Amino acid sequence: MDPIIGHADVLRELRTLAAVDDPAHALLFAGPDGTGRVRLALEYARLLNCEGAPGDSQPCGACRSCRLIGERAHPDVVVVNPGDALCRPRANESGHEKHPQSRDIRICQVRGLIDLVSRYPFEARYRMVILDPADRMAREAANTLLKTLEEPPGHTIIALVTAAPETLIETIVSRCRRIDVRPVARAEIEAGLVGRGIAPDLAARVALECHGRPGKALTYATDPNLMGDRGRLLDRCRKITAAKTSERFTYAGDLAERFRRDRAPVLAELDTWEAFWEEQLRASAKGLGEASAAAVIEALEAITLVRADLLGMVMARPAFELMLLSFPRLTLAEPLEEELAAHG
Ligand SMILES: [Zn+2]
Ligand SMILES: [Zn+2]
Repeated sequence: MDPIIGHADVLRELRTLAAVDDPAHALLFAGPDGTGRVRLALEYARLLNCEGAPGDSQPCGACRSCRLIGERAHPDVVVVNPGDALCRPRANESGHEKHPQSRDIRICQVRGLIDLVSRYPFEARYRMVILDPADRMAREAANTLLKTLEEPPGHTIIALVTAAPETLIETIVSRCRRIDVRPVARAEIEAGLVGRGIAPDLAARVALECHGRPGKALTYATDPNLMGDRGRLLDRCRKITAAKTSERFTYAGDLAERFRRDRAPVLAELDTWEAFWEEQLRASAKGLGEASAAAVIEALEAITLVRADLLGMVMARPAFELMLLSFPRLTLAEPLEEELAAHG
């Protein structure tokens, strides 16, 4: 596992938490996607399980425990995502079908988790279960987790990961030690990438485009074409804001349909829309904007709202339509080059 990019403050906090006799057993890693929340949770698992010299504040990175966690192959470090990991139907529940495509962390998975942590770890001092994203737990599943979260068996650490801590129920949040994971400074990301052998000019471009998210930076560094996709997506945003209302509706329907099949790319597209409007906001601050700052802020709020709606039970299509209708109309003129260059 390569060194973590940024987050020196969080690492200090995790070391302090891990150094005591009774380390924190329930952690909530709250921060935007791609900032390294799971990576930090794994670092905590390493700190607690490293077989290296006792008293060292860093995991050694070389012992069996450190290596297996680094390869994400440790039998006692389990990540639970939406899907059917740990699915455990009730004893009397016949015909419980597998649900690998599920978008939620279901109550059957939480039951599986509780069953798992009631047993001793295979080899680790501390087993770690990471729930990612914790906000995809339905209320019933969250309630089922509460007691375990309150008094996890001594050899268990539960790490909740979320970009939307405000959507978690308060009883969950209050049982966790909250760790805020913030975006990382551009220069730190750039240096981190160069440290991993990425060419300096690519590292500089990636650091600019990733908006403080080291996870995204590593994806871009591996496949720089994805950054080009972003440029194309920004162009498309402009075309849509210049198009007729009927075309906006067509696009909203397209978003809803793609969202039904696979959420992640559509959520990434919302990121692009945010970047697009933030650029417009900067332009209007310099007196160069086509739309008023108030209209642009309304557009940004509409994106925040649609994200919240999509987490809830709201129908995707009308939510996207409402968002598109809130966007001010722009012309098809090319965005100013210096605006794009100042981006980031
Ligand atoms: Zn070690
Ligand atoms: Zn199940």
